[in-house]
Amino acid sequence: MALSKLSNLYRQVIMDHAKHPHNNHELDQADHELKLRNPTCGDVLTVQLKIADNTVIDAAYTGTGCTISQASASMMTDQIKGKTTAEVEQMVLGFSDMVMGKDVPDQTKLLGEASILQSVAQFPARIKCATLAWKAAYQAIEESESND
Ligand code: ZN
Repeated sequence: MALSKLSNLYRQVIMDHAKHPHNNHELDQADHELKLRNPTCGDVLTVQLKIADNTVIDAAYTGTGCTISQASASMMTDQIKGKTTAEVEQMVLGFSDMVMGKDVPDQTKLLGEASILQSVAQFPARIKCATLAWKAAYQAIEESESND
């Protein structure tokens, strides 16, 4: 990715997350887990969640991939902790719209630091890298709800 085209601030935050990712470990006693691949880039991520009373009480991920996929997974797992599953689903839809260049109401409030990845919209080839972790979290929640 031509990260050099991004503003210095955004590039720095993305690189920090990729080099020192948050929540990049196996989760003890995870009750939801979903693995997704992005074959066009080679990213492979497994997202693990712990959910109680419809709230994500812990989130983590493992896997490998490019800078954007790792930074996005790091930010995503930070942002969804403490949110209800309904809120997380809204966040995933908002994030997906954002990186496709659509306007998202209250974007910064909805996505927190992950709203920085809005800049990915300039690089269509990287949209799947950015959304991979978010889709995995969404599908993990959907599966848990269909099992209830
Ligand atoms: Zn990638």
